[in-house]
Amino acid sequence: MKNLLHTSIEYLKGVGPARAEVLKSEYGIRTFEDLISYYPYKYIDKTKIYKISEIVDDSAYIQIKGKITGFDMVGHGRAKRLVANFSDGTSEVELVWFNSIKWMQESLKLGLEYLVFGKPTIFNRKFSFTHPEMEIYNQREANPIPFHPLYNTSEKSKKRGIDSKALSKLIYQMFLQVQSHIPENLSQEILEKNRLVSREYALFNKHFPKNVDEYRKANYRLKFEELFFNQLKLLKTRQIRIQNIKGHSFEKVGEAFQNFYHNNLPFELTDAQKRVIKEIRADMRGPTQMNRLLQGDVGSGKTIVALLVMLIAIDNDFQSCIMAPTEVLAQQHFYTISKLLGDDSEIKVELLTGSTKAAQKRKIKEQLQSGELKIVVGTHALLEDDVIFENLGLTIIDEQHRFGVAQRAKLWMKNTPPPHVLVMTATPIPRTLAMTLFGDLSVSVIDELPKNRKPIKTVHFFDNNRLKIQGLMKNEIEKGRQIYVVFPLIEESQTIDLKHLEEGFDALSRDFPLPKYAIGQVHGRMKPEEKEYEMNRFKKGETDILVSTTVIEVGVDVPNASVMVIEDAQRFGLLQLHQLRGRVGRGAEQSYCVLVTNYELSKEGKERIAAMVKTNDGFEIANLDLKIRGPGDIEGTRQSGLLDLKVADISKDEQILLLARNYAQDLLEQDPEIEKVENIRIKEFLNEILVKSKDWSLIS
Ligand code: ADP
Ligand code: MG
Repeated sequence: MKNLLHTSIEYLKGVGPARAEVLKSEYGIRTFEDLISYYPYKYIDKTKIYKISEIVDDSAYIQIKGKITGFDMVGHGRAKRLVANFSDGTSEVELVWFNSIKWMQESLKLGLEYLVFGKPTIFNRKFSFTHPEMEIYNQREANPIPFHPLYNTSEKSKKRGIDSKALSKLIYQMFLQVQSHIPENLSQEILEKNRLVSREYALFNKHFPKNVDEYRKANYRLKFEELFFNQLKLLKTRQIRIQNIKGHSFEKVGEAFQNFYHNNLPFELTDAQKRVIKEIRADMRGPTQMNRLLQGDVGSGKTIVALLVMLIAIDNDFQSCIMAPTEVLAQQHFYTISKLLGDDSEIKVELLTGSTKAAQKRKIKEQLQSGELKIVVGTHALLEDDVIFENLGLTIIDEQHRFGVAQRAKLWMKNTPPPHVLVMTATPIPRTLAMTLFGDLSVSVIDELPKNRKPIKTVHFFDNNRLKIQGLMKNEIEKGRQIYVVFPLIEESQTIDLKHLEEGFDALSRDFPLPKYAIGQVHGRMKPEEKEYEMNRFKKGETDILVSTTVIEVGVDVPNASVMVIEDAQRFGLLQLHQLRGRVGRGAEQSYCVLVTNYELSKEGKERIAAMVKTNDGFEIANLDLKIRGPGDIEGTRQSGLLDLKVADISKDEQILLLARNYAQDLLEQDPEIEKVENIRIKEFLNEILVKSKDWSLIS
């Protein structure tokens, strides 16, 4: 039987070729199925209309009713905006538009009664709604469904007549057309055991619930389904990989490892470091290719682990590479590894990045191809087609989720059999996120910091408290320590008044004058050589203070640095703040992290600062971050498309995830060859993965 949901959207009543084009270009909607899974982002409870005088904070989406009393055009350039004064008799708010200003002004009418839906924020001591949903209030309009779905719509689409309301009508129309032809994609057993509603019921009530209970049932079912297929895919992929990809077997631990371990190790390894090395070693010895995630909080000592496992590769006559997301980080690894190995080491290490000189590049490539060079550290430059290894046995990727899936696969494809892969991340990933993102990876965790560490003291100062901050800084410099000062932006943003880096640099130069103090500066606009030069000056202790943007966020290791001052700290994400803090506290002395903000903090800004002051624990920070921001915002996950969950929210749905994972696991264990699966949708899904797995670059 043909699946009705695969019908092209053009054939839905009320669509036609022109609107189909808009749906395709603006939302990627091509079929009925695509439209049906374009879910509302909110529902307005039409029974509740707030009085403006009742608005107390900036936390929730609400609905108000009133009239526009006047328009203003404010600001210029990117900050140019249309402001409408809006009153309901109890008080006033501002409605603000940065885009489609002209069109908004033409279509909105003074004196008409509007329903406005949005999230109020405080700006200049007044509540305002930015880009709110607007609708002419119509008292007589019958309203049988109190929960009114709201869909995200683009400006372009609205101009072509497809706004939230129109989308809602189309979706309703589609349900009429396909009624009872929406196929189930879970087995009867799973449905019954988990008391899940049917797919048809769930989809309809996700769009048009009549009450909260219906909505919950629908949502639960859709979450379960989404997580089930997510896990099924990850686990199946892993199963195929284990069956089909032979790994290099690193059988021995030999001279290179032993020699370094017994003679060159600058400190004793922590128990956690020893444990993860054993786990990695066991994987690499085995018959299959390793795919392991190494998680360790900032400063937990992942670099030495990386070096030690690369030495095992050398002992088995294989080459290794470390790939880092930025030049600064690659240089850092190169520098650290060279230093650890020592000047008279027989093991050669080279650095290959975009800014490596052509002659040097050629030489490195030759040595990689001949097998003479055993360890190479680099950036994306390592992925270029003419970088050919004689026998690459191990690839270490630092800060994984800045690299796309395709890039990871590229390193595999270039080498047969593919190298073992170790992915290192300092971003502590909560268990649920790790499972959904990397369900096909094994995970090792360094859950212990080196013993000599004192916990970093984190304090929050308002920016009118400069003298205190300077006192602390001068004190530390007096003791011979060094300081980072980090700014969020390099240029003043046009809309928000941010002290920018240069201004900050000038102010610091006045407060910490030459010749007593030396200040350096790095930012993203500098050439790599310039950055390297400044970083090296700081590393060598030639500068006391390093003023920078977030280029120093990851990987920089200067154990003598004891203070991290973060300006406009509220502008950074929680994980980013934690990463920055991790640049200090790398030696045995007491270190400090100073968060500087002004008084105007949003609710989320306050939560982030409070979390930082409260705990040093990366995992706790990661969990708080997940709660405050939601998973879609975790750095890098959105861009890399790894986390395309639409309904499930892994910060809240851990239980459902675990349940769904169990079912997926059972299914694959009982039926690895996909012979007995009765549900046709599951069967198709798994077969598709099988077909794609012939080309590994197509799956994660
Ligand atoms: P990260 O996990 O953040 O990459 P690094 O590998 O840069 O951490 O290590 C942080 C600092 O701790 C480095 O200066 C490193 O030399 C030091 N270090 C690592 N392991 C130990 C240990 N077991 N004992 C003492 N210091 C250590
Ligand atoms: Mg590191």
